[in-house]
Amino acid sequence: MSRLFAGTPFDRPPHCERCERLETECTCPPIDPPSKSIPPEKQTARLLAERRKKGKVVTVVRGLSAEGNDLPDLLTRAKNHCGAGGTVHEDGFEIQGDHLTRLAAWLSELGYRTKR
Ligand SMILES: [Zn+2]
Repeated sequence: MSRLFAGTPFDRPPHCERCERLETECTCPPIDPPSKSIPPEKQTARLLAERRKKGKVVTVVRGLSAEGNDLPDLLTRAKNHCGAGGTVHEDGFEIQGDHLTRLAAWLSELGYRTKR
């Protein structure tokens, strides 16, 4: 009769149902966005690479409001994705270095419309 309980959540640590990784290792986007957030497909992220003083390049993402998006969370994931540092803005965020193509592809994967 012990087989009756095989496959219950108590058998193993919780795994993500989508990527099947351990929940502690899962990087899937949350299923339920905060209720006040705007769906990504209704937003257009405008991306540009800006050259700052001393020739430093940053990739700037604008058009994403702080009310409609969890910008700190988005920034954290963008930093992980690009392996670079960054800062939140009032209408988006910026990532150090030229990650224009990578960020545009990543944002459209999340559902955002993108414009360069
Ligand atoms: Zn997952």
